[in-house]
Amino acid sequence: MPVPFIYHPRYSQLSLPPRHRYPIDKYRLLRQWAVEHGAQQEQWVKPTPIDWAKVKTCHSPNYVRQLVNNRIDRKEWRRVGFPWSEQLLLRTLTSAGGTIKAAELAVASGCAIHFSGGYHHAHKDWGSGFCLVNDLALAARHIIDQDSSAKVLIFDTDVHQGDGTATIFSKEPRIITCSVHGKSNFPFVKSRSNVDIELEKNTTDDEYLAVVRQTLGDLIRVHQPSLILYDAGVDIYQKDELGHLAISLNGIFDRDKMVLTMARDHGIALAAVIGGGYQRNLTRLIRAHAQLLRASYHVWKA
Ligand SMILES: [Zn+2]
Repeated sequence: MPVPFIYHPRYSQLSLPPRHRYPIDKYRLLRQWAVEHGAQQEQWVKPTPIDWAKVKTCHSPNYVRQLVNNRIDRKEWRRVGFPWSEQLLLRTLTSAGGTIKAAELAVASGCAIHFSGGYHHAHKDWGSGFCLVNDLALAARHIIDQDSSAKVLIFDTDVHQGDGTATIFSKEPRIITCSVHGKSNFPFVKSRSNVDIELEKNTTDDEYLAVVRQTLGDLIRVHQPSLILYDAGVDIYQKDELGHLAISLNGIFDRDKMVLTMARDHGIALAAVIGGGYQRNLTRLIRAHAQLLRASYHVWKA
């Protein structure tokens, strides 16, 4: 059975100021890439937005109230990097619904890919770095609330540390957080995940892939998760405009293929989100994100 692709057109529907750094069109263009490269009609799944009560399973009621009513302190809101709008809120709730849907489908069928997600800088009480609501946290919480025997590993390989996810689950033993990230990248004050791997500037493929393999192998052995939520951010790419690592396009493919293969071979469900990736050249950016889709074709042949 082909891997489900979770996508909503709303992901690319957000009015931003001209020259805004966020590549909002990438979701639509990645879907187009998938269609042009043989995605089948039955693979597509359209998520529904979650409600604010669901958001409160990981975020404080006070933060949610301020967010909904656009009452967040101006200075604090600046950390988020998006202008506030109803459209932004709906997009955020839809994207969180998409990661939850991906987690459910992965549990049911082995693997699922969400064409958004990875808003890992959202903390319990505040947002930052383009992240308002932590979809990875919400999906992990959703799965352990549904199944008392579930154990979730959040394996975050975006170049930026998953600081919000780390703090939300600092006291939840059934959710393991791991972040493999650039030491010199945002956030400059790091949080503590269960496992943090900090990589030096300009780290290249061989070292990177060895670290990812070793780290994930150890986590699987020690914690035996039933589900891996995988943040496949491509801001590790050497051409990324924000990331400080020097990973090649092949290196991204090898990482994604390795992570998907390890999960499959251990019989662990895996839901991937595409995560971060920042290039003005959208063709090049899509090619980087598309490595995850290519990897899924290799690992989960129909
Ligand atoms: Zn990132």
